[in-house]
Amino acid sequence: MYTFVKRKQDKDRVPNLRTALSNNPLNPVTMVVDTQTYSDIWQNCLSLIKERTSTDEFTKWFKPIVPLDFDGTTLRLRVPNMSYVYHIEKNYIPSLKPIIHQMFGTKTQLRYTVPSEQSAAQAAALAAQDTAKIKKFITQTNTANIPDPYAIPGLKRVQIDPQLNPGYTFGNFIVGECNKLARSVGMQVAIEPGTNPYNPLYIYGRSGLGKTHIVQAIGHATKERRPELQVLYVPMNRFQAQYTTAVRNGEVNDFISFYQMIDVLIIDDIQELSGKEKTQNAFFNIFNHLQLAGKQLIFTSDKTPVELKDIEQRLITRFKWGMTVELEQPDYETKIKIIRSKIAKLNIQIPEDVVGFLAEHINANVREIEGALSALAANASFLNKKITTSLAKDILKMYVQVCQKEITIEHIVKTVCEHLNLDIEKFNSPKRTREIAQARQIAMYLSKQHTKSPLTAIGAAIGGKNHATVLHACKAITNLMETDKVFRRTLEEIERKVTAK
Ligand code: ADP
Ligand code: MG
Repeated sequence: MYTFVKRKQDKDRVPNLRTALSNNPLNPVTMVVDTQTYSDIWQNCLSLIKERTSTDEFTKWFKPIVPLDFDGTTLRLRVPNMSYVYHIEKNYIPSLKPIIHQMFGTKTQLRYTVPSEQSAAQAAALAAQDTAKIKKFITQTNTANIPDPYAIPGLKRVQIDPQLNPGYTFGNFIVGECNKLARSVGMQVAIEPGTNPYNPLYIYGRSGLGKTHIVQAIGHATKERRPELQVLYVPMNRFQAQYTTAVRNGEVNDFISFYQMIDVLIIDDIQELSGKEKTQNAFFNIFNHLQLAGKQLIFTSDKTPVELKDIEQRLITRFKWGMTVELEQPDYETKIKIIRSKIAKLNIQIPEDVVGFLAEHINANVREIEGALSALAANASFLNKKITTSLAKDILKMYVQVCQKEITIEHIVKTVCEHLNLDIEKFNSPKRTREIAQARQIAMYLSKQHTKSPLTAIGAAIGGKNHATVLHACKAITNLMETDKVFRRTLEEIERKVTAK
């Protein structure tokens, strides 16, 4: 569609536009007044381009362009030399095209003319030089090896490595209330990258809740459906390191060019951009270019856009343009599903009660669930032990913050009553049936075991008794446990419930 032509004749002014467009009645610019020339329209194009590029870029790459003629379908532009052709085609076509189509008509094609003849060989040599520069930059910064980024006819467009972890797919992403919105939006993005309403897609949530996993899953799903698209995953700190290297080597333009050719750009942990003004500026250029070209942007962060600190307002505004979704902490059911799937992956045997115990006690995040399970598996095999709840407890103490909510007498009383199917009012009433008396003794015993309350406080809270009654209750319960197996089991069950919270 965009082809190079040898120089014909230079003429800056052309006949009026209406004549030129007369064979294209649907063209929106047929409304332009008679006196307007291609140069005038080109000036309008320039104003739009100016809004979308930095001053330096604009002065270097667009100001020197001269519109030569327009026959209703082909707009001929004179550029200073062939490197302009490559640079424009490589970097600006996605944003230039809509502007040209808006101003000159949707069927318009571009042709470039250079003042002195340059052979295709010379042009290719220039391109090769440029490619080598980008390649060098990529090697230095340890990213994808991009053989040839140009989209120029005749030159092959080679795929870059998307830098995705094969372990992070939708297939092994467990869905629950906490993440189902993010997952379904993510899947839609993968189906229609760039043209969906969720652009940019901004996923936020606390550490370990699956942000990296889900955005990489989007990358994989996109690649599966559209292998021709350039998908790239990059953590913000790597992007920042690449930028710093590019500055040091005077290769910022190459750095920006590289990112501007991506179709689906996934940047993880965008909050790392905080306080890095220069990187923010480069990022802003890349963002605008891709957004204008209808490319998909996906970000993750541990904060909402408004909570981001030391990030320019113009960027925060842009983050809010598309869709912001939160990943929440998984609920009990989801945790159970996650634990089961990780157990299957680790290929270990863990009894169901331990699965329940883990789900109940790991409140922080999925990463900790994984850590705890691996530790459990390693310890069990190292010690040659079966994975039991008590081993799980020991391991958990080391690996996660087991949620040890302080146990209160009130909580104990409630649990005892619930388990024995007893009304709390009855429990607290002056009645002295055998059933109530025993329930009170159990509650006193458990309060002594599991709270730091003195015996007097326990007695006062349970039936208004003194400390001697509490001591007596504790002795009675201990005796019963030793002699009555059924009672012992009941008490252990109540105890488990009491300590489960
Ligand atoms: P974040 O980027 O939010 O800190 P990650 O995406 O790195 O979290 O997730 C931490 C670990 O938990 C990863 O190994 C990931 O595979 C796993 N994980 C998180 N959420 C899920 C989920 N819903 N299903 C399966 N694994 C998950
Ligand atoms: Mg992450």
